[in-house]
Amino acid sequence: MKYQANKDGFYGEFGGAFIPEMLYHNVAELKENYLTIINSESFQTEFKDLLKNYVGRPTPLYHAKRLSEKYNATIYLKREDLNHTGAHKINNTIGQILLAKRMGKKRIIAETGAGQHGVATATVCALMDLECLVYMGEIDIARQAPNVARMKMLGAEVRPALSGSRTLKDATNEAIRDWISNPVDTYYLIGSVVGPHPYPDMVARFQAIISKEMKQQLKAQTGNEYPDKIIACVGGGSNAAGAFYHYLDAENVALIAVEADGLGVDTGETAATTQVGSEGIIHGSKTLLMQNNEGQITEPYSISAGLDYPGVGPLHAHLFKSGRGTFLGATDNEALAAAQELTRLEGIIPALESAHALAALKKITLQANETVVVNLSGRGDKDMETYMHKLNS
Ligand SMILES: *Cc1c(COP(=O)(O)O)cnc(C)c1O
Repeated sequence: MKYQANKDGFYGEFGGAFIPEMLYHNVAELKENYLTIINSESFQTEFKDLLKNYVGRPTPLYHAKRLSEKYNATIYLKREDLNHTGAHKINNTIGQILLAKRMGKKRIIAETGAGQHGVATATVCALMDLECLVYMGEIDIARQAPNVARMKMLGAEVRPALSGSRTLKDATNEAIRDWISNPVDTYYLIGSVVGPHPYPDMVARFQAIISKEMKQQLKAQTGNEYPDKIIACVGGGSNAAGAFYHYLDAENVALIAVEADGLGVDTGETAATTQVGSEGIIHGSKTLLMQNNEGQITEPYSISAGLDYPGVGPLHAHLFKSGRGTFLGATDNEALAAAQELTRLEGIIPALESAHALAALKKITLQANETVVVNLSGRGDKDMETYMHKLNS
């Protein structure tokens, strides 16, 4: 239980629900209902059925032989890239949409930066025939046209956030404002292990399917359900939380979280929260975040849109501070090189986010008899334009 949220949503000193009074009722309603609903048999039956037949789970655990040879270790890839919509995010949106339905909610709101969470949300809203409104910064709408088109085709309304820097944090403010104004019929669907309690715990539980399968698959393929190391990239931290979840108390398993260093941690153009951030409150929870001397959130930077977030979820702040997790960083260029390498060695084009996790293979010491699992959080289709511009081979 050292690494699970307590009843108030605290992981050590991080987490909780630091919210304006006007949100209290909404968050309390969710907190009082989520565990009963998601642990019920009818929920679990429907959740498992959709994960299997709609999402395509279990995702393979693939022994990457040529990559293993190169790094002189036994490396497995957990293939979240093979999920419907191309990443792990759908595990969470399926879970939350089933919860929203059971809570009688008719209208789903979300915020999105790169659009990946918006697409995963619009997807499950189409599936369940629920109204979907996605807030997105005006700048991001212009930068992420293909995902905006996907959301619209799926039937969602994409509403631009016009205030502030017109990016993710402004879209988040708009979504929170909407939820305050529509407390009865609206469900706020958050895309990572961030936000006020119970979101970080709830999202971690939905993503925990990743490490649950990993255990069974490692046991079947190697005879041992415990790898030596698990590597995952961290934006808000949901794919990492899912990949680590069932190993949190297995202290012999090294948990390696990889943040986006961007152009470099000392350049000011970075998203490496644990390196340059400090304790504070973001999105309703106490955690580590990137802020200036006045406590204002600083704009993060990464080549990878999914890692371009100015905080980490409270579980990760706790893993960092307690030393249970090892936090590394990979720069834009290191991630690009790792994406190219995986593509040529294994015929798998990873998402730029996942490429950060792969880049960490160069930064850790590996022994020949070690088993390492890299969580391949998503596929690279969405990043082809960046790859075409940045890789010239
Ligand atoms: C969104 C995204 C991430 C980052 O989000 P986490 O909550 O940190 O997992 C990582 N990889 C992919 C492919 C994504 O789409």
